[in-house]
Amino acid sequence: MDTGPFQLPSEIVEMCDVAKRIVHDELLPLEPQYLQHPGHSFGTNQTATNLKLVFGQDVLDHLTKISRETGLWYLMVPEEHGGSGLSMLAQIAIMEQFNYTAVPFPFAHVANILYQSEGDQVDRFLKPVIEGEKITCFAQTEPNAGSDPGGMMQTHAVQDGDEWVLNGTKMWISGAAESDIIMVQAVTDKEKRQRGGITMFLVDRNNPGVTIEEPGIQTWLGTRPSQYIVHLDDCRVPATDILGEVGNGFRLGQRWLTIHDRLLRGPFAIGKMQRALDMSVEWAKQRETFGKPLSERQAIQWKLVDMYIDLQSLQSLTYQMAARADTGEDIRTEASMIKLVSMNWGARCLDDAIQIHGAMGESLELPLTLFYRYLRHGRIGGGTDEIQKMLIARKLLRD
Ligand SMILES: Cc1cc2nc3c(=O)[nH]c(=O)nc-3n(C[C@H](O)[C@H](O)[C@H](O)COP(=O)(O)OP(=O)(O)OC[C@H]3O[C@@H](n4cnc5c(N)ncnc54)[C@H](O)[C@@H]3O)c2cc1C
Repeated sequence: MDTGPFQLPSEIVEMCDVAKRIVHDELLPLEPQYLQHPGHSFGTNQTATNLKLVFGQDVLDHLTKISRETGLWYLMVPEEHGGSGLSMLAQIAIMEQFNYTAVPFPFAHVANILYQSEGDQVDRFLKPVIEGEKITCFAQTEPNAGSDPGGMMQTHAVQDGDEWVLNGTKMWISGAAESDIIMVQAVTDKEKRQRGGITMFLVDRNNPGVTIEEPGIQTWLGTRPSQYIVHLDDCRVPATDILGEVGNGFRLGQRWLTIHDRLLRGPFAIGKMQRALDMSVEWAKQRETFGKPLSERQAIQWKLVDMYIDLQSLQSLTYQMAARADTGEDIRTEASMIKLVSMNWGARCLDDAIQIHGAMGESLELPLTLFYRYLRHGRIGGGTDEIQKMLIARKLLRD
């Protein structure tokens, strides 16, 4: 495993080799069918649905069995909840392997803030999600509140005895229709808003106050719509289904985004960039024009070099940040940096790979355009490039 200037401990390298074998033996052979099937959709909370729709229940069961038997299922679950207890660095290095292919591998997909569950929330929400019996989605964005949810959020909740009554509309919610639990942010104090006035509610998808518009919004990320508009109309939620404290929901949302979303964009991009580079090197060596392989042309070599440098730099930076997160350091700004560069370098690396492949680069038989679309999307979803830069600038100017 080429990990560039960053030396991974040998036990992590061994775990990565297990992941790599699964990718090569189990997932890559399935990839051509996956890429051309009309039933796949974007989002980690879509993994089971995607595998079932594209390959059927048997393949989903087979891959889930491998995931559970190897312990990979619990890769990102903390030790106190029955998880692997692996460092962030190990998790990231392993996740990178699974991002080498477009075929998703089933893991326990737990939004990290759900570990704030208390009392009977643990049995009703957290445990079923860890075991893959229930799926969650995260509902922050609204038709008029994207980059500035704290300032612009309209969805609000008013207390009525032991319940809260939620009203509002959420938009772009990934996997809402397949989810059992919607993690909804709502304003509970209009004066305080993001400074103690937004609360996170765990809303049952079957609550009569919830309507999810079907068929969802079709984007370029999949062959099946996966983002939804969710209406909350006098949606009554028991006070016991508040996650964390009243007024603490914005902070929780930011926490989810920092680690779960922003830092993990590193391995999400690295795996795809490595695949794009491997494919491009192979293609350049065997494709001939004007009597010579492409690999002998400096114009092509320089593209390969650019891809390699981006990949090595991103890998090194991501591993360093993961190692710092493992020491308990606050890496919020650095996670923004990882998100920003992984999506930008990743998208330009895939752009080069498509160019080197010529017409074949645009074929849906190859994963290149799908990877490109995923990475380009990452410059918007989960906080845009501009918002990451704003967050980094804040730290620069403050310090
Ligand atoms: C496929 C997909 C999946 C998604 N999944 C989810 C989900 O599961 N849950 C969820 O809650 N949301 C989800 N989103 C929403 C996503 O997080 C938002 O789209 C994103 O945060 C940007 O918000 P916006 O689209 O409203 O853009 P806007 O806020 O309207 O911004 C438009 C443009 O202006 C720029 N801009 C805004 N403010 C500034 C500023 N101060 N300075 C400079 N430039 C600025 C932005 O960077 C952007 O380029 C998803 C979106 C997509 C496309």
